[in-house]
Amino acid sequence: MHITVIGSGYVGTTIAACFADLGHEVTAIDIDEAIVETINDGQAPIDEPGLEELLETHAGDRLTATTSYDPIPESDITFLAIGTPSNEDGSIDLTALEAAAEATGEALADKRDRHLVVIKSTVTPPSITDDLVPAIERGANNPNVSVGMNPEFLREGSAVEDFTHPDKLVVGTTEAWATDRLKDVFEPLLEAHPAPVVETDPETAAMIKYANNAFLASKISLVNDLGNICKEFGLDAYEVMDAIGLDDRISEQFLRSGVGWGGSCFPKDVNAITAAAKAAGYDPAVFEAAVEVNDRQPERLLTLLEAHVDLEDARIAVLGLAFKPRTDDIRNSRAIPVINGLQRRGAEIVAYDPVASESMSTEFPEIEYAESADAALTNADGTVVVTDWDEFATLDDEFQTMANPIVVDGRRIVEPTDDIIYEGLTW
Ligand code: NAD
Repeated sequence: MHITVIGSGYVGTTIAACFADLGHEVTAIDIDEAIVETINDGQAPIDEPGLEELLETHAGDRLTATTSYDPIPESDITFLAIGTPSNEDGSIDLTALEAAAEATGEALADKRDRHLVVIKSTVTPPSITDDLVPAIERGANNPNVSVGMNPEFLREGSAVEDFTHPDKLVVGTTEAWATDRLKDVFEPLLEAHPAPVVETDPETAAMIKYANNAFLASKISLVNDLGNICKEFGLDAYEVMDAIGLDDRISEQFLRSGVGWGGSCFPKDVNAITAAAKAAGYDPAVFEAAVEVNDRQPERLLTLLEAHVDLEDARIAVLGLAFKPRTDDIRNSRAIPVINGLQRRGAEIVAYDPVASESMSTEFPEIEYAESADAALTNADGTVVVTDWDEFATLDDEFQTMANPIVVDGRRIVEPTDDIIYEGLTW
């Protein structure tokens, strides 16, 4: 099949490269010329395991990137993978996606064969009918064009692996030919790695994505709440969670308490579904509590540190800046409120991350960035661990270069020894 993917960010580049690897002809479109050039050079515009290898193999062959919408009518199906950030009130900001949807409609004005426009971006159910279908129709009200929803469940840090080994495929369409076309795209993938296919309408498909993310974010907040209680009682939350994870109804996944969830999806998606629910007249109390618990965790980390060191003018090492390991994405990383909290207390900050320092330096140009964990720890008066990068698990002698070997661990990654003063966030 010939596929167009609009938006070449974390999702768009990953799915474009994976579709090409499945044997499809792919055109990737982005308004950012630098991204387009990088993809055409066979390089990854983002740091994601396995992505560069796929682009090296397929760029210039089955995968071409461009800033032009002109190639859209030559394709059979278009995926819209544009960012859907939050407005200030938490509601979904559709500005970029709506513009892309309208331009896609315009490009398809004269299309005589059937064409399916699939929303890959995460959007609230009402916005499909109220905003996106009308935007495409403003571009062109062409009866050959149908609109579907195919939410994406990949996780940054394992995006290629997740996309190629899905737990489920959600196909939200309004016409039988559209269902078939969307399933055809994934046929080679499902042959190699069978997964259940959920066939539904676009709005339900959109809700499935929010239900998935809001459930997982709330689960982590519940686990963090329980972890905080364990800490107050002097108990090890991980021992408690290991035990409850044996219950099939709970499952062992997502039971690691810590400094909280971040990233480009959980915070904005929980806020967006909360705002959309409120607009519809319902107050989702559990989601609001999940956000509140999440917002508290970075402060709890700093309170633990403060119990050991006066933070005014103290040199504090922040280990980990990415919102999770194996990505350079810092969007809504817990490192941001941790650094803000340290700055408010007058601390001098030296930060280290294996790949995310450059991204964070645009957010915090005034702090020091070290080249290694070892360099960050040297002469530090304390350290906080914010991201569970594997390399932090093997730190040992490096802590002895600190002025005070105080380690407050937000992710239970450091191996405590008798030579350091170690505080776990919830254990
Ligand atoms: P992103 O910000 O990384 O990428 C969006 C891209 O769209 C950017 O490269 C931008 O230049 C481009 N763009 C903006 N306007 C455009 C236009 N008019 N035409 C062409 N390109 C345009 O976003 P992302 O993280 O890839 O997320 C995309 C969507 O997928 C969001 O709705 C997000 O919620 C959802 N999602 C993200 C993830 C994730 O892990 N990042 C996972 C599942 C779902």
